Amino acid sequence: MDSSDTHIKQPGSQEDAFQISGVSVRPGETREIYLKVSESFLSTPIQIPVTVIRGMKAGPTAFVVAAVHGDEINGVDIVRRLIFDMDHHQLAGTLIAVPVVNIPGFLSQSRYLPYHRDLNRFFPGKRVGNNAEMIADRFFREIVLKCDFGIDLHTAASGRVNLPHVRGDMRNSKVRALARAFGAKILIHHQGVAGSLRREATEAGVPTILFEAGETGKFSNRVSIEGLRGVLNVMSKMKMWPKHELKRPPFQVIVKSSDWIRARKGGILDLNVRPGDLIYEGDAIGSILNPFGRTVTRIQSKLTGIAIGVTSAPITVPGTAVVHVAKLKKALALVERSVRQTRSRKNLRKKLKRKG
Ligand SMILES: [Zn+2]
Repeated sequence: MDSSDTHIKQPGSQEDAFQISGVSVRPGETREIYLKVSESFLSTPIQIPVTVIRGMKAGPTAFVVAAVHGDEINGVDIVRRLIFDMDHHQLAGTLIAVPVVNIPGFLSQSRYLPYHRDLNRFFPGKRVGNNAEMIADRFFREIVLKCDFGIDLHTAASGRVNLPHVRGDMRNSKVRALARAFGAKILIHHQGVAGSLRREATEAGVPTILFEAGETGKFSNRVSIEGLRGVLNVMSKMKMWPKHELKRPPFQVIVKSSDWIRARKGGILDLNVRPGDLIYEGDAIGSILNPFGRTVTRIQSKLTGIAIGVTSAPITVPGTAVVHVAKLKKALALVERSVRQTRSRKNLRKKLKRKG
């Protein structure tokens, strides 16, 4: 049965018959639902696994989704941990947890749907259109439009590693509040490209943020812990989850502009920058070597800011993106102070260890 045409969004309501794909979920219940979005070459259904958890108490409805890009799987682990942590007595409202949105991409460990289509460029989709548009439409109507807000979990693209950060349209006060609550150090203001889940959901009245952390094809325990904590922070802020000890970041800045430092030469990359490092204009951040091990050129930063993304590939051609820098101007002093404090705390701990 297709309930999507009859369901009317009732934000914050605790209506008894909350439905996804024709399956009802009542307060205090958890349902594991397969949402059919397409069909494979084998005539079998393409189904998205959806866990709907309804609290005993009334509250908002939220989606937390991962793997819209099929190879960005760290969010799969975050969603798994989130489902494990939920409890009907503590949860207020309805949590829709989707560990994998892009099923064909996940099965082939690719960012894309078949025909090299990026699902995250096709929202809100079309009822009748190409394969990507129809999957996007089904997901958007069955999940997104039933929610009051959402969180979309991504990782860096293939061959890159990111500093965990949150992206969203910070001009939108609801998006900004979600982003701030998440608790990441860096919040990047960008409304998102047309057709992306977070942009289209926000424009449809469902404020949505994106968490970007880690690498493709991998689980990182550190990223999973930070991601789970962030999701629970947001749920707590939205009164879906009991207030817990919010671990605030040492600093939090909204970055409006970022740019890549690119290689000018081909060769082997020796890079001295890690995600989270502060970089100043003119800094030597690495070298490019020829196969004999001789330096072809040194890479100088033309930017001042914090490294939010770094290539994980050890080779370059002219134009290869090497370091993604969130530009800092007014906030630079704040970040410098915080980095200095963290360094002196670490040094103190080392000294105490040596003495002890
Ligand atoms: Zn992505």
